[in-house]
Amino acid sequence: MRKKVIAGNWKMNKLLGEAVQFVEDTKDKVASNDKVESVVCAPFPYLPTLVEKTKGTDLEVAAQNMHFEESGAFTGEVSPSMLADIGVTYVVLGHSERREMFAETDETVNKKAHAAFAHNLVPIVCVGETLEQREANQTMTVVEEQVKAALAGLSEEQVKETIIAYEPIWAIGTGKTATSEQANEVCTHIRKVVAEAVSAAAADAVRIQYGGSVKPANVDELLAQSDIDGALVGGASLEADSFLQLVEAGT
Ligand code: 13P
Repeated sequence: MRKKVIAGNWKMNKLLGEAVQFVEDTKDKVASNDKVESVVCAPFPYLPTLVEKTKGTDLEVAAQNMHFEESGAFTGEVSPSMLADIGVTYVVLGHSERREMFAETDETVNKKAHAAFAHNLVPIVCVGETLEQREANQTMTVVEEQVKAALAGLSEEQVKETIIAYEPIWAIGTGKTATSEQANEVCTHIRKVVAEAVSAAAADAVRIQYGGSVKPANVDELLAQSDIDGALVGGASLEADSFLQLVEAGT
């Protein structure tokens, strides 16, 4: 049984007080069991405070991005060692918003995945097709290429620990959720790609989330699918109550 992962991606939302209030409202309520883990993906300035506030609880803190370089002349960037040093445990890599607006590529996502493991950060690697690609029947090939590129050169053990988030771009923030069958079809394909590229054991262990307009009303059906091991949630993760309902659905 793969442990489910419910991750709330706040994106560029909340001020510090709101972020702290959220973790105060949720940190002792997120389930502590072997079925689900709960993660909040917060903006950089809040990470040290949130790591501190969630110490000793089951709420994990993720960054939403990082650079792959260790240090140096990269104005405005944050390194993997900086995240590890302050106690961050997960990092979102290659979100479609970063690929589309900040020139993130398959190659940089792969470098970041290697850098994450070098610092014991669990990477949440995002993949997903545009509406145009879906309508042109390219979903499977697009996602396959993104997954293979992101995982290239990682060891079998590292792939087992990786979390892949399948987020069809047309379903993000649009209210249009992929049907649970559509979502599962792609997640099943991703698992097959991992089996072929790495090993059957890695495919069996890797966790694959679905993301794109997930909310309390549709999460049960999505999580009931054979190859969906959790959710990466934007809008519906901003309110503590709604986030707790999503975590509850994973238990
Ligand atoms: P929404 O849940 O707001 O559609 O966002 C999904 C997402 O991009 C999570 O990373």
